[in-house]
Amino acid sequence: MAKSYSKKVGSNGGKSLATRSIHSGEPRRKYADSLTTPIIQTSTFVFQDSRHIEDYTKKGKEHFEYGRYGNPTAQIAERRLANLEGAEDCIVFSSGMSAITTTILSLVQSGDHIVITDDSYKKTLEFCRSYLKQFGIGCTIVPFGDYEVLEKAIRKSTRFIFSESPTNPYLNIFDLVKIKKIADKHNVLTLIDSTFSTPFNQRPIEFGMDIVLQSATKYLAGHNDILAGAVLGKKELIDKIRSLHKSMGGLIDPHCCYLLLRGLKTFPLRVQRQNETAMQIAGFLESHKRVKKVYYPFLESHPHYDVAKEQMAGGGGVVTFEIKGNLSTAKRFLDALKLCYIGPSLGGVETLITHPALVSYYDYTREERYELGITDTLFRLAVGLEDVEDIISDLERGLKQ
Ligand SMILES: *Cc1c(COP(=O)(O)O)cnc(C)c1O
Repeated sequence: MAKSYSKKVGSNGGKSLATRSIHSGEPRRKYADSLTTPIIQTSTFVFQDSRHIEDYTKKGKEHFEYGRYGNPTAQIAERRLANLEGAEDCIVFSSGMSAITTTILSLVQSGDHIVITDDSYKKTLEFCRSYLKQFGIGCTIVPFGDYEVLEKAIRKSTRFIFSESPTNPYLNIFDLVKIKKIADKHNVLTLIDSTFSTPFNQRPIEFGMDIVLQSATKYLAGHNDILAGAVLGKKELIDKIRSLHKSMGGLIDPHCCYLLLRGLKTFPLRVQRQNETAMQIAGFLESHKRVKKVYYPFLESHPHYDVAKEQMAGGGGVVTFEIKGNLSTAKRFLDALKLCYIGPSLGGVETLITHPALVSYYDYTREERYELGITDTLFRLAVGLEDVEDIISDLERGLKQ
């Protein structure tokens, strides 16, 4: 089993990730002696009297004033996520994209420049490439994995390097040790979207990354039933982002926070199982005669296998593969599946499969798609918690077509 399963982290109370996922970030004694986290479903918070107001405004005593400025249920989710990621502080958002865009906007101003790797999440790239330009912020998109080009792209005005690891759909692994050296040399911040790995498989802050972004919609909440996002890092940086968050207002509601907290309790169990299932499926696919190529970071055939083994505890729950044949073979494969649902997203209990050429890149020409490596027979499988044998039989049924 990989090295950091259930790793004890001294700075986090010496408890394992499994225990902290259930207990960290909240007092043992809760409202009305409830065992589970109370959902504080209110938009506003009241003062008892004038002294209470002044304790808050003049003495800085903690008080929740208004829902957009904070909520106790959300605060517990933030403390728990910070604990799991090994971060000083965290903000939860209504979606991963809200976390990403608010974070980026809080760190740049007109005249600044950023560097982002080319296989980042489609909407993140779109935001950086198109919308930031409207505010006079430069953006250089660099090919993933070329650290020389990345370093050369850094200018005096560069504020940060943004990347992901693993990426979608090829599960490329960003070398966090290399990037830390480059960032320190040029005094720029490092932002990592760590959605595909989660703090179970990889904790970028331990590698010196400044900011970690999570689409908690995926593994952290884990049940394909809510959208949520988080940003994590040093308090000083998070304070700056929180200040803009209060104006942008991408708030997560308290009930959603409860569902996120509920999902978090089982997240180490789920991710451990998804790692194991995905690894087995990757092996099955790699040895199948109708499969052309399999991309999984913990397969030795993956180009970043060594880095993955170095910085991750597990390969994650996503397996990308290309079958032999053409677009019509791909459609026949998809149509034969009875267990895997066809749909975007990942990290939930249901296994989902996507065909990027038909879904995310439907509006690209075939040439544009192929330039990005999105071929006609490429699939991304996001494994759920079903029995691995059942998922394999379903894939086998598809491949027989
Ligand atoms: C899903 C996803 C996002 C966006 O998160 P939402 O919660 O859907 O807004 C960002 N980055 C990655 C890597 C994702 O998979």
